[in-house]
Amino acid sequence: MNDYRKSLDRLSLEFDGEMIGPEDPRFDGARGVWNAMIDRHPALIAQCRHAGDVQAAVKLAAARDLPIAIRGGGHNVAGHGVCDGGVVIDLSLMRAVTVDASAQVAKVQGGALWRDVDAATQKHGLATPGGLISDTGVAGLTLSGGIGWLRAQHGLAIDNLLGADVVTADGRLIHTSADENPELLWALQGGGGNFGVVVQFEFALHPIGPEVMFAAPIYLVEDGPEPIRAWRNFLAKHGDRVASLCEFSTAGGEDFPEEHWGSRVFTLACVYNGDAAEGEALLQPLRELGAMSADFSGRMNYCDVQQLFDTLMPAGDFRCYWKARYLTELTDEMIDLAMANALAAPSDNSLSSLWNFGGATAAVAADATAFGDRSMGWMYSLDSVWTDPGDDAANIAWSRDGWSNYEEFGHHGRAYLNFPGHGEDNAALTRTSFGPNYQRLVEIKTRYDPKNRFRFNQNIAPKA
Ligand SMILES: Cc1cc2nc3c(=O)[nH]c(=O)nc-3n(C[C@H](O)[C@H](O)[C@H](O)COP(=O)(O)OP(=O)(O)OC[C@H]3O[C@@H](n4cnc5c(N)ncnc54)[C@H](O)[C@@H]3O)c2cc1C
Repeated sequence: MNDYRKSLDRLSLEFDGEMIGPEDPRFDGARGVWNAMIDRHPALIAQCRHAGDVQAAVKLAAARDLPIAIRGGGHNVAGHGVCDGGVVIDLSLMRAVTVDASAQVAKVQGGALWRDVDAATQKHGLATPGGLISDTGVAGLTLSGGIGWLRAQHGLAIDNLLGADVVTADGRLIHTSADENPELLWALQGGGGNFGVVVQFEFALHPIGPEVMFAAPIYLVEDGPEPIRAWRNFLAKHGDRVASLCEFSTAGGEDFPEEHWGSRVFTLACVYNGDAAEGEALLQPLRELGAMSADFSGRMNYCDVQQLFDTLMPAGDFRCYWKARYLTELTDEMIDLAMANALAAPSDNSLSSLWNFGGATAAVAADATAFGDRSMGWMYSLDSVWTDPGDDAANIAWSRDGWSNYEEFGHHGRAYLNFPGHGEDNAALTRTSFGPNYQRLVEIKTRYDPKNRFRFNQNIAPKA
């Protein structure tokens, strides 16, 4: 560690954060990420307190010619927030959120979690689209799209990104917005952590809640696919106001009748963007599609909705492998396949989900953000979650095989890059998923990170 301190001195760089090397007792804790399968040993973990620390860490890595992994919330299932042998720029000490309620803008530091943003913005009756789990990092989720409960009316997280402060590969701190370095803002809207370390995001806020209607009727898989078909048809009419997810899981615990414990179930989870009472009436038919196993529906505070799924995804010793692909439409055949996949999951902790799109998400032009085409109707994700290393092969195979099996229903082979398996398909999927935007991203990458210092992501290789 002294060696790195000496390098900082030689470079006349100041660093106020924590430098954690392999000999430090904090090292094992600091290198762990959300997926317990990821076991990487960086040369150095630089926990930064402010943008100046990030600049120093980037310059230090450049001087040593080391690659950089950027850690936001540490949730990336491929473990892109940590690396072997390089420098981890860890932003977990940078989680401040400041809200300008009159301008309806939030400034969010690069290591913030969604729960930080929701808590700060809801104090003013405002919110910006985030994810479904409150301890996911704002940075990683946003930079590759960001699919959450507000997407029907307010789009993806990137559609609300107004600007950012970024430390680039040469250690400069620059601002990007529609008026300043606009091509960098465009690249951050889906292009991932390829272009630099975002030390602060600026998001547009919208009046939300505090009370919203959340519907979550739960049906048994063995009772058949009719509720899912009816839900699909319902969303065809109301998808511009209702963001929804059909989530397959395994029943258990006191909220379910004991005779259903261990059975596969699906939840037709919906959030209505609008008046809660209006939403309750609109979503009622989804609770009358047959005999429910349980029903978690109710009017509730937006912040509570944002934390409802946390118990399904607790941080801890879970091993994970997640894959997702977009679907053009949700056919009866695809629903049957999703039902069969759910029944075949080797682990009761695994989830699989059908997500709807449409509304404000679909209204954005393909070339308006790096993310690309918005004409996909749906997404299907297979999230393997298990604990025993002896079960690795079976669980990874379930996600991978399930993912391959439904390729024919896919939308031009495009995938959601935030559910990247362990990154083994990144090179091919990145090209396919960005489509015609890929070449423009290569140009921007070459300009901002010609040596590919930031390569632990859905990597866009710079021109040689
Ligand atoms: C439990 C769970 C629930 C999820 N739910 C959703 C959901 O509802 N919707 C959704 O869209 N996705 C969801 N995801 C996927 C999630 O969006 C990705 O895992 C995302 O990468 C997590 O971001 P992070 O900052 O926590 O991850 P990290 O592992 O810290 O980083 C992920 C990537 O982002 C880059 N990065 C991180 N911080 C910065 C920064 N400040 N500047 C530049 N680059 C940075 C890293 O280089 C890395 O490549 C979920 C994931 C998990 C594990």
